[in-house]
Amino acid sequence: MSHPALIVAKFGGTSVADYEAMNRSADIVLSRSDVKVVVLSASAGVTNLLVSLSEVQSEETRQALLHDLGRIQYAIVDRLQAATVIRAEIARIIENIAQLSIRASESPSAELTDEMVSHGELLSTLLFTEILRERKVSAQWFDVRRVMKTNNNFGRAEPDLAQLTDLSRTQLLPLVAESLVITQGFIGCEENGLTTTLGRGGSDYTAALLGEALQAQRIDIWTDVPGIYTTDPRVVPEAVRIDEITFEEAAEMATFGAKVLHPATLLPAVRNDIPVFVGSSKAPEVGGTLVDNQTCHQPLFRAVTLRRRQTLLTLHSLNMLHARGFLAEVFAILARHNISVDLITTSEVSIALTLDTTGSTSAKGSLLTQGLLTELSSLCRVEVEEGLSLVALIGNRLEEARGVGKEVFGVLNPFNLRMICYGASSHNLCFLMPESEAEDAVRCLHRHLFR
Ligand code: ADP
Ligand code: ASP
Ligand code: MG
Repeated sequence: MSHPALIVAKFGGTSVADYEAMNRSADIVLSRSDVKVVVLSASAGVTNLLVSLSEVQSEETRQALLHDLGRIQYAIVDRLQAATVIRAEIARIIENIAQLSIRASESPSAELTDEMVSHGELLSTLLFTEILRERKVSAQWFDVRRVMKTNNNFGRAEPDLAQLTDLSRTQLLPLVAESLVITQGFIGCEENGLTTTLGRGGSDYTAALLGEALQAQRIDIWTDVPGIYTTDPRVVPEAVRIDEITFEEAAEMATFGAKVLHPATLLPAVRNDIPVFVGSSKAPEVGGTLVDNQTCHQPLFRAVTLRRRQTLLTLHSLNMLHARGFLAEVFAILARHNISVDLITTSEVSIALTLDTTGSTSAKGSLLTQGLLTELSSLCRVEVEEGLSLVALIGNRLEEARGVGKEVFGVLNPFNLRMICYGASSHNLCFLMPESEAEDAVRCLHRHLFR
């Protein structure tokens, strides 16, 4: 049973970038009385600064980064009327960040990075709550780590859904009945009480998880574009908004690189059939995209997505020929190294696969450790290719329609395609290509297939 009037609204980094943006987002919250839980990202740029602060070695650079961080946060504090208490609180947090940065430079760890980056969301939620209070709104700041229990996969932790549901009902729901609740996206807490994060862009996922736990009637994602477009409007300005889209199509878009939604966002929504709205906090009046179970129109071609920084691993072995169990051995090695395979194609004597590198908090994020390469090399010859992008054409019943191959590959004739996946999903056809050509390929596909 869904709650008759409970919307979880999430505001991304640009929607809480500064005092004006926070006030625009506050206007949206206050004009929609069903919004009861507000999930915030860190102010734009802050998570990147914090990631750098967890990796920096030189004292001079550390001070420069801390200065940049302070500039973003104090510019908001300076606009508040009664700033004394909150100023002291922000100063205390920034001092804590400085100490953590020194500790991280002495002994870096994924735990420390997560602890460090979590401060971005802690800061933005404290400031936003203060803005609401100054506007005489009854709002409570809530530490999401009280309910968002995760495993200890730092940098990309997975939530414990059973605990989240129980704790949300006992700890969060009673507060929701009293006043507006402001909480953090992206962060969680493992069983020993250490802070974790859900992976870059994870605030969308937090909003959807809380929506699920509270049985919300809708999840609103407020960002810097007025909806989900036929492709990234930054790459193709002619892209058009999709007013309604199914969960399957939107999930496929998110998985294949449409940054507007974190890849896991739609999982909780689908499980509970909760519609997701995507709109721009800069222009709420222009509407947005509704992601739902069904739509009136499901076109053959829906969107084009682009995912950068892909690694292609090609494994060659003559032992594969008519052999059994080779793939099982490869997958066992990858699993031992905690790697999930993304795309795969095989021939008689080789396998080409891409690694799922999306989302981890660490900027260094390469999954290809020497240990993994050594183990794989004991089995086969390994080739690693970087500098690739994945382009995906998202649509409906792509495997049934005639002429799709001719139409799509005809358009792509001038490009060098490295690996093609078609047939496993009726919603996508995707291929790897050199990063330098990928944006052109997206523009070309969009121009020909979305007129
Ligand atoms: P937020 O900080 O609000 O979470 P993001 O930067 O993560 O915002 O996501 C919004 C961005 O997603 C847009 O600015 C846009 O460039 C990008 N994007 C990529 N693909 C799409 C798409 N198909 N439709 C809309 N936006 C897209
Ligand atoms: N602040 C985090 C990030 O920049 C989470 C988010 O914005 O969703 O990745
Ligand atoms: Mg985002």
